[in-house]
Amino acid sequence: MMNELDFLATVERLLPTWRDVFSPEDTQSLAAWLQETPRDDSEAVRQTVNRTLDLLQRYPSAKSDLGQASNPEDPREGVRLLYSQLAGGPQGVQAHTRELVCPKDPSHYRRQPMFPGERVFCPVHKVALVDPDSLPSKE
Ligand SMILES: [Zn+2]
Repeated sequence: MMNELDFLATVERLLPTWRDVFSPEDTQSLAAWLQETPRDDSEAVRQTVNRTLDLLQRYPSAKSDLGQASNPEDPREGVRLLYSQLAGGPQGVQAHTRELVCPKDPSHYRRQPMFPGERVFCPVHKVALVDPDSLPSKE
């Protein structure tokens, strides 16, 4: 089974083969995330893994390439394992959770967690994102 660093290395290796599959924006974002993630910063690595898994939800063929890389005998099982181990549980893939916002400034950063209870952080303020309803109303 892949760990997070193996996963990023595999995504890096496969990325050139996805150029025709991904939108140019997504190819660029993914390449930038891979490039900017310090591999010795486990929180940054985890975030990039989560963002990558998020993005791959839109590209089933790229997901099955990864499944193939992770488990050549049974790629579908490979995909399931990737999501359950890296994204924190099989329920995470289907679960649609509410979008969370940065408590310092809800308008500048928002992100939907991969699974209920996932802690998502603002990359600028380094604080955990919160449910927008939990913020004091400004009106
Ligand atoms: Zn912020």
